[in-house]
Amino acid sequence: MEQVHPHLIRIELGYVNAFLWTGPKGPTLIDTGSPWTFTKLLDQLQAAEVVPAALQRIILTHGDIDHIGGLKGLTELTDAPVACHTVEAVYITGQQHRPVKGLGKVAAVWTRLAEAIYKPFIPQVQELLLEKECTPEGFVVWHMPGHTPGQIALYHPEDKLIILGDALLNRGGKLSLPIKLFTPDMDQALESLQKLRKLDFDTACFGHGPCIRHGAKAQIMAFLDTQ
Ligand SMILES: [Zn+2]
Repeated sequence: MEQVHPHLIRIELGYVNAFLWTGPKGPTLIDTGSPWTFTKLLDQLQAAEVVPAALQRIILTHGDIDHIGGLKGLTELTDAPVACHTVEAVYITGQQHRPVKGLGKVAAVWTRLAEAIYKPFIPQVQELLLEKECTPEGFVVWHMPGHTPGQIALYHPEDKLIILGDALLNRGGKLSLPIKLFTPDMDQALESLQKLRKLDFDTACFGHGPCIRHGAKAQIMAFLDTQ
């Protein structure tokens, strides 16, 4: 567990991160890790002195199993509404499989197997978010399709921070585009990242890898200039 900002805790769950917003209108959980890290997620919430029943909202950056894995278990412990981008909801309820392309079809076999074993889907998403919608916590939703059709970034203008989900990775502290095998539209993913040029942020948080606590905008812009 890492306090990345006075209002934000990074919950490290193996190779994937969830985030706990403790600022206004929280506590709000952003992403839920993998099904096999659910116990760890509960332990970390307890360490942050947040019981699941106290959660005000669960926001999902996208519907991949390593981000929605703890969701079903959590919904049994809290009445907090679940929120995601409006086009991503069908992947979180399991009504559709997210698009795959090329060698992604091989990766999808693993994903389908994991989904068959862990059954991570929930019957309903309560809050369907749209581009530039503002959440009660003060996050502005930025639609960042490419990795998945409804991938979002959560931008907090007041706190100058952004949570990027898998729109951009920082594995091993090195910025990279989302993993090709799991990204059906890399051109669109790259185009989505251009939206970051307009935003003013100092802290960036990623679905994978450490956060950049200060100077994130300059580092990300320098990375995008090389792509
Ligand atoms: Zn991921």
